[in-house]
Parts: sequence; structure tokens; C-alpha cells
Amino acid sequence: MAECFLHVRLGLLLQPITIIGGGLTGLSLAIALRKNGIPVILHEAGIYPRHRVCGEFISGILQKTLNALGIADLFHDCRYHTDFTWFSANQLLRQSLLPTPALGISRYVLDDRLQKLATDLGVEIKTRSRQKPDPGKAGLIWTAGRKPVKGEWLGLKAHLRDLDTSQHLEMHNGPFGYLGIAPIEDGLSNVCGLFKIDRTISQTHQNLLVAYLSKNGNTHLAKKFKTATWRENSFTAVAGFELGRQIPTPGILSLGDSYAIIPPYTGNGMTMAFQSAEIALPHLLTFSRNQTPWSTTCAKIEKKIHEKFHTRLTASKFLHPFLLQPKARTFLKHLPLRPILKLVR
Ligand SMILES: Cc1cc2nc3c(=O)[nH]c(=O)nc-3n(C[C@H](O)[C@H](O)[C@H](O)COP(=O)(O)OP(=O)(O)OC[C@H]3O[C@@H](n4cnc5c(N)ncnc54)[C@H](O)[C@@H]3O)c2cc1C
Repeated sequence: MAECFLHVRLGLLLQPITIIGGGLTGLSLAIALRKNGIPVILHEAGIYPRHRVCGEFISGILQKTLNALGIADLFHDCRYHTDFTWFSANQLLRQSLLPTPALGISRYVLDDRLQKLATDLGVEIKTRSRQKPDPGKAGLIWTAGRKPVKGEWLGLKAHLRDLDTSQHLEMHNGPFGYLGIAPIEDGLSNVCGLFKIDRTISQTHQNLLVAYLSKNGNTHLAKKFKTATWRENSFTAVAGFELGRQIPTPGILSLGDSYAIIPPYTGNGMTMAFQSAEIALPHLLTFSRNQTPWSTTCAKIEKKIHEKFHTRLTASKFLHPFLLQPKARTFLKHLPLRPILKLVR
């Protein structure tokens, strides 16, 4: 049984690591572990490549983190975004420069590149393999994303071509949610919104996205969506999740979104996914080399994760509801961007 024997490498008895969930956290961690010679099995419920609900711009990531995980080369052709424009309903609120460029790349491309690199390095990836938590199992890491619960949010996303917008990052606010636009590869724009669920809206697929946008007061944009070309099969939706700290499963080491979902308006969940992998890596190496017991390894990683993310999760918990209030319009106009970003990065 591949999962329960000890691997012999370079004279060391190495404990294998089992990762449940092949999103950014699981795949980047698997790559970094394999680059250090650790045997890794990864179970992914879905397949690759696939579209995911995500704003598809990565902000606040350091080159150091990508290098530590051995994935920096995968971003060689991504878009670099520095300009950010805010709209409230149809009104332009402000234009800003980001302190550091954000990376624009679709999850369709990025997740697929990660899984190919992981496979090339020898990670045993099992797709269409939905697993159940196995509390207390040494070497098992849960990176399966959001914990399914009844939630009030609906995430919608699609790729559009010939969208008549600034071709920079845009955020369109309204009382029921917001939608971000991020140019990605091949002249496409990713459009991704998070809206409060309204059960009276009965449209489906791309009409659903247009309906939510119109209800949110972003009617000019909704009109532009109607004339743009929608990339086939790129529409995706997600519901059934809560923002913030996820309910922990005792005895399971949870990383990435399965630890906490930072609200996408204020946060940088993709960066947190990579940072979680970077934090866990040295501790998993000592576990795998039989230098630290599993319980100590988990305790150390959980402590570091808490220290790293506590402030930004707390700040975004208070900022996020406020950003949807009508008075946020004035606040956003004069928002001191750098200090606020420091709190949530
Ligand atoms: C609307 C919205 C917009 C966003 N926009 C941005 C943005 O612009 N920038 C940003 O940085 N972040 C953004 N995020 C957040 C970002 O998408 C996540 O933080 C990131 O994807 C987390 O990665 P992960 O690997 O932890 O989880 P995921 O990417 O969710 O990966 C989890 C994986 O586990 C698999 N899985 C689930 N259950 C099981 C199981 N039982 N067994 C096996 N596999 C399983 C899933 O199929 C999935 O592939 C956004 C999120 C939302 C909801």
C-alpha cells in the first residue's frame, strides 16, 4: 500500500505525505515537498484543467514565496497589473496605483500548470478522488477548500472577450455585492462577482451573472457584458460557504481556504494559499524525515498559520460588511490604500 509504507531515499526513512485537495494550496505544497525528495500522494475530487470561481489576480505575493515553493517559472507569461479602478453602481469612484503589481493568470491555466509540474516531479495525483477526513492520521493534510455550509453568498465567474472596459483591474460595487474584472491571458478578461443570494432571480448561466449585476446597480457594465463574447464553458458558480475562519475538524491539519476564507474584496486568498504551503513546508520536512512527531508538527504549523493570518482575517472581517454599505462610497473615495492594504496583506 503506497500510503502506508515508509519510503527509503538517500539512506533516510521518509514518511509519505497525503494531501487531500488539489487547488493552489495542495498542489504548491506537493511540488515543494517533492522538490525536497518527499513522497507525496494527492487526491483531487475534480479533474484538470477546469474553470474555478476566482478573481484571478494575485496580489501581495513575494517572489521569495514562489521561489521557496519552486513554482516561480509558472508565472513567466502572466499579466502584471498596477492600475486599479473602483466604481460604485455606474459611477467612477477613484483610480489607484497598487503598491506592488498584481499577477493576472487564469485558474484554468495556473492549476493545470501546477498539476503538470507536480506530476513531472513524481507526485502521485489521483483525480476524481473525493476523500473523507481521517482525523489523527499522520502525514495527512486537508487542503480541500471551503467547508460546505449553508451560506448567504453566491460566487459567479466567466471569461469574456471584447469587453469594452479599461483593460486594467476594475472593481464594481453595489449594495448586494461586487464584481472584479481582471485581464488574463489571450486577450481575455476574467469577470468574477460575489453577491448576496437572491432566490427571486431565476436566470441561469451567463444570464444569471448579468441579472445579479443589474440588481446590484451595475447596469452599464451589465449592458457591456451582453455584447461581449463569452468564452465557452467558462461560466462557473459556487455557493454554500461562509467567509472567514472555517469550522475546524479536530485532528485534521487544514490549510488554505479550508483553514479560512478571506473575503475576496479585502483579501488575497491565492497568496494565502501559497503562503500556507510555504509555512508548512519546513515542518513537514522534519516530520517526513522522522525528526518530529506528527502531533508536534501540526501544533507548530497551526501556531505559525495563526500568527501569520490572524491580523488580516480580523481586519477583513470588519472591513468587508462595511464596504457594502452606502457610506462606503465616500470612504472608498478617500481610502488610504497603503495602510489598509498593510492590514489585510
Ligand atoms: C468570488 C471569489 C473571488 C476570488 N477572487 C480572488 C482573487 O482575485 N484573488 C485571490 O487571491 N483570491 C481570490 N479568491 C480566493 C481564492 O480563490 C482561494 O483563496 C484559493 O482558491 C484557495 O486555494 P485552496 O487550494 O486553499 O482551495 P481551492 O482552490 O478551493 O482548492 C480545493 C481543492 O480541493 C478539492 N476538493 C474539495 N473537496 C475534496 C475532497 N473531499 N477530496 C478531494 N478533493 C477535494 C476541490 O475540487 C479543489 O480543487 C476568490 C474567491 C472567491 C469565492
